[in-house]
Amino acid sequence: MSINRRFLLRRRPDGEPVPADFELVHEDLPALAEGQFLIRNHYASLDPAMRGWMDDADSYMPPIPLDAPVRASTIGVVEDSRAEGFAKGQWVMGLNAIEDYSVASAGGFTQPIDPHQVPSVTNYLSLFGAVGMTAYFGLFDVCEPQPGETVLVTGAAGAVGSIVGQLAKIHGCRVIGIAGGPDKCARLTARYGFDAAIDYRGKDQAALTEAIAAAAPDGVDVIFENVGGIILDAGLMNLNLHARVGLCGLISEYNAPEPVGARNLWRLIVKRASIRGLLVADYVARFGEGAAQMAQWAAQGRIVVDEHVDQGIENTYDAFMRLFSGANQGKMILQIA
Ligand code: NAP
Repeated sequence: MSINRRFLLRRRPDGEPVPADFELVHEDLPALAEGQFLIRNHYASLDPAMRGWMDDADSYMPPIPLDAPVRASTIGVVEDSRAEGFAKGQWVMGLNAIEDYSVASAGGFTQPIDPHQVPSVTNYLSLFGAVGMTAYFGLFDVCEPQPGETVLVTGAAGAVGSIVGQLAKIHGCRVIGIAGGPDKCARLTARYGFDAAIDYRGKDQAALTEAIAAAAPDGVDVIFENVGGIILDAGLMNLNLHARVGLCGLISEYNAPEPVGARNLWRLIVKRASIRGLLVADYVARFGEGAAQMAQWAAQGRIVVDEHVDQGIENTYDAFMRLFSGANQGKMILQIA
């Protein structure tokens, strides 16, 4: 019998997760019930949202139960099946967990995928997965940029942000990105085609406000917000009349003991601007539309995607924590098989 290595949540992190919050255990594989199939997970997506799922908080999804494996989107191959439509050897993608093998049921969140349709099967976790769809629908549906407008993207060198910036350029916008460090800033302009990049490291809110004003002397029409904290506060100080802020994420606050809170919301009143939260899950029914458009732009060489693949389930903690130190260079993925 095969052994299943599973990365369990043993206790809820208090602030920044530490290794003792998790445990890698070895378990026997369960028997399949009628309608179930067994997935050999090859890749797991490591997402900042997983940090929120570790808390016992009311959210759009229930918390990960203690002593259960950490929930994650995975890509794998059906190894055994008692479910119609999921034959052995079929590649699948779904919301499973960080473990060698997941048991899934037909009619759940796991869907067949075709690795021959994409340059790399991992692209289902980046450009053609939740990340790409967050960028696509978050920018076009929530922020509604117009050609010629100025778009500010925070967390700009990351998985979502780098795609948002490229989409906004394709749409004819002027695009400014905020990221951590000179290398990431150079990547924003040289590789992703941003018009300007701002390194937030070592800057307080006043310096950030000034840097945004220098990069966007005519103001900012759209903020695609991934970070929150003083970065959001600085962006709010540069809004134009009727600007739109798409609130995608607040990663600077995910490990904070207390919510930080935006302190410059009064700028929304002054500028009659709007702020709207976005959740990619709302767009699942339209993923086909988004993926088809992305595939076309990617084939035309108008959009590039970077993936940071770390090896080995035993390295899950270190790989996950890259998201918070900024050590990931692109979509953070863990190769399990
Ligand atoms: P990512 O940007 O690839 O990786 C996270 C990046 O965040 C890091 O590389 C780091 O970049 C930056 N960061 C971490 N801590 C920071 C801090 N304290 N201050 C400033 N920057 C910090 O991750 P992603 O998957 O694309 O996610 C980006 C954001 O989108 C997250 O907030 C996530 O929760 C959100 N998201 C939302 C949805 C939705 O449906 N609403 C879906 C997907 C993702 P630097 O090196 O530049 O600091």
